[in-house]
Amino acid sequence: MAIIETLIQAKGVLVAGDIEDAPLEVELLLRHTLGINRTELYLELDRKLSAEEEEKFWSLLERRLSGEPSAYITGHREFYGLDFNVDPAVLIPRPESELLVEMALNLAQQRPVATIAEIGTGCGAIAISLALNLPQAKIYATDISSSALKVALDNCLKHGVMNRICLLKGDMLTPLAEPVDIIVANLPYVREAELSRTCALSFEPSLALNGGSDGLDKIHQLSSQINDKLSPGGCLLLEIGQGQSGAVTTSLRNLFPSAEIAVTPDLSGIERVVSLILPQ
Ligand code: GLN
Repeated sequence: MAIIETLIQAKGVLVAGDIEDAPLEVELLLRHTLGINRTELYLELDRKLSAEEEEKFWSLLERRLSGEPSAYITGHREFYGLDFNVDPAVLIPRPESELLVEMALNLAQQRPVATIAEIGTGCGAIAISLALNLPQAKIYATDISSSALKVALDNCLKHGVMNRICLLKGDMLTPLAEPVDIIVANLPYVREAELSRTCALSFEPSLALNGGSDGLDKIHQLSSQINDKLSPGGCLLLEIGQGQSGAVTTSLRNLFPSAEIAVTPDLSGIERVVSLILPQ
């Protein structure tokens, strides 16, 4: 079968299986099978797949149909225009988390930012995007999971930022030896009950998603630790889930009455990031 026919037929299979973004998903899996980029794929629409390629592609499609995310099938996910290695030890980076990167970069344009810590770095996508865009900053990236840090290390090597990012194993802010100018975190914030109901999340590590009964356990834990780990005038950027902004801002307001606190929506209009700036 030719590439064009394969694309059409496979798209039909995914649509029938209720898989979202079927055209994109099919394209990703076919490109992965053939080891070619997007332009090459569309320049070779008439090329026939070999029997081996056909077999490989349809078996990958079968995995996607059973719910496995394409990022785990291909071992890659794009974030902030960069390619990251991922495996089931890490959360798959989401496009909405790019807002954390944008906000940190904005802050760095307004004030001197010498040190940044990303807490719960997973595959390292946020820390590495920041390192590549802020060549002067020293960046710490922490995670409680050694297998996640292994993926982050691979990605640091791949993007040539090994000497710029200090990977630290440990819970929350404990491994951080000095106060930093920005703390950025996409902590687990999914409610436990919701997690067991949401099939799409069942392939990803619960450690990276489970925020306890109200989803806010980890966010509260981190908020209560920032006192001696954020420099005066420093900023905390927290990704949150839909409907969590009220509870998060209230608790931060109680902990830091004189801080500047704001909520920023993502591109879908969902309140996604809570920011806190400490007084100087
Ligand atoms: N945005 C993820 C989701 O809802 C959750 C990520 C997280 O818990 N930090 O699929």
